Amino acid sequence: MRIGVDLDDVMAICAVPYLRKFAEEFGVVLPDEQEIGWHLLSRMQKDTPYDKLVPGLERVTPEQRDRFRMKLYDGKFFGELEVYEDCPAVLEQLVAAGHELYFITARAERRRMITETWLREKGLFDYAKAVHLKPLGEFRPDQPRGRYDPQGSAAYKTRLALELRLDVFCEDDDLISRTLAEAGVRVFLFDHPWNREVEHPLVTRVNGWSEVPDVLAAA
Ligand SMILES: [Mg+2]
Repeated sequence: MRIGVDLDDVMAICAVPYLRKFAEEFGVVLPDEQEIGWHLLSRMQKDTPYDKLVPGLERVTPEQRDRFRMKLYDGKFFGELEVYEDCPAVLEQLVAAGHELYFITARAERRRMITETWLREKGLFDYAKAVHLKPLGEFRPDQPRGRYDPQGSAAYKTRLALELRLDVFCEDDDLISRTLAEAGVRVFLFDHPWNREVEHPLVTRVNGWSEVPDVLAAA
């Protein structure tokens, strides 16, 4: 099968270190580790009372968040992420079984160097048929610079999934996984606190890489 694989929070442990650095920078207090995730930031932007879960977050303006994100991503952040424990072994197993893997991230194309270096360091690079990052032209001009753009990322990944005729996409983002499924792409949704509401006949929730070979065999 032809399998799309997202990077952040599917291969690389990303949300937890991001939120930890965010909390350190702005002096906010995070909940328990199992509850740390992107939903803490995104729900705040929709004015839901998440400031109760993350005391102090209401003081951080959207512009401060954008600047923080850009500064972090322009630094060593992506180069220092940890890989999920079972990921390398399972990817190796999938390739050995004849599957084709396409690494597809909504990270900007200008992050290619740090991204590919990281993939090489973690021993993952050679498992990919290709590594796709989001080209500059895919960015929506109306979006504030530095802000995460879930709609643009969903459109980008879905277009690519259809072009590459992928059979399955390994993803964690709630909007992206929904958009892929609605376009007819089967999704293995890596379980995280921010995607618990996603349900679709084409979405199979997995609790980490160790479950992937079995659900793939059943797909
Ligand atoms: Mg992701």
